[in-house]
Amino acid sequence: TGVMAKSKFEYVRNFETDDTCLRNCYIVVRLDGRNFHKFAEQHNFTKPNDDRALGLMARSARSVMEDLEDISIAYGQSDEFSFIFKRSTNWFKRRGSKLMTHVASQFSSSYVFYWKEYFGEQPLLYPPGFDGRVVLYPTNHNLKDYLRWRQADCHINNLYNTAFWTLVQKGGLSTTQAEERLNGTLSGDKNEMLFSEFNINYNNESPLHRKGTTLIWEKVDETLTKTISLPKEGEKEVTFTRSRRKVTALNCDIIGDSFWEEHPDILE
Ligand code: ATP
Ligand code: ATP
Ligand code: MG
Ligand code: MG
Ligand code: MG
Ligand code: MG
Repeated sequence: TGVMAKSKFEYVRNFETDDTCLRNCYIVVRLDGRNFHKFAEQHNFTKPNDDRALGLMARSARSVMEDLEDISIAYGQSDEFSFIFKRSTNWFKRRGSKLMTHVASQFSSSYVFYWKEYFGEQPLLYPPGFDGRVVLYPTNHNLKDYLRWRQADCHINNLYNTAFWTLVQKGGLSTTQAEERLNGTLSGDKNEMLFSEFNINYNNESPLHRKGTTLIWEKVDETLTKTISLPKEGEKEVTFTRSRRKVTALNCDIIGDSFWEEHPDILE
């Protein structure tokens, strides 16, 4: 038992730089699919929203939350997912590169591992990749605004894409014509166009597409039965409940205050 042998090459370790994340801050890791515009086309994603792809993203994110430490909430839309580590986490001594690369590699391998569950017989043509970044947020307000920013982005893109593909698929416009038609329009104009010309009330579109996916930990009561053997009574069935933490997917608004009031445990 002893000291690890040190070679004369050991000094090269000193070239490693410190990337410890500032204490007390929320650590956000955001992943984004590499070149997914092309990936979506090559794998026949339906436009503007492919539910198989969104399901696979959420499944991979759940694997990240379950398999890594101290992630309290995750939010995803399109080809991106953000993971928020608790302020108090000390996982890998808060080394940014360790946290980010573990998130990115667990996510990428899960995306491939679960591909078939969502895409069935449609083959995965090449190994997809995801980039990652780390951002620190010092206050609850900043963190909430970060997540609000991502959901606002989801809303803006989805409203645009819904209007665009409705003009193309139902209105018979070319993609160039649809683009010209939407140039300079505000949200209200797009809502009005969808309603008056296509009888589509945007607010009734799928919450998955409008709001993205929020993953949180929720307590669930599990009822279990087990057989025990007692010295006098012999074998006996007992039922008991235990409380377990489970990742739950929501497609709700996280911009307003009510989500945050209903889930005070997310923020510390
Ligand atoms: P980069 O490598 O710079 O991120 P990118 O091609 O991935 O380039 P993004 O801005 O990340 O560009 O956009 C992701 C693109 O992937 C979307 O514009 C869309 O074309 C496609 N995409 C991702 N998820 C879905 C989905 N669920 N349904 C349909 N298309 C999707
Ligand atoms: P950490 O998550 O901290 O990296 P670890 O268990 O991966 O923990 P490492 O120091 O990276 O620890 O060591 C990798 C271990 O994996 C080796 O000690 C060995 O037990 C096993 N291993 C890796 N590659 C092989 C291989 N080709 N053949 C046999 N064992 C291997
Ligand atoms: Mg990008
Ligand atoms: Mg991308
Ligand atoms: Mg993206
Ligand atoms: Mg190792």
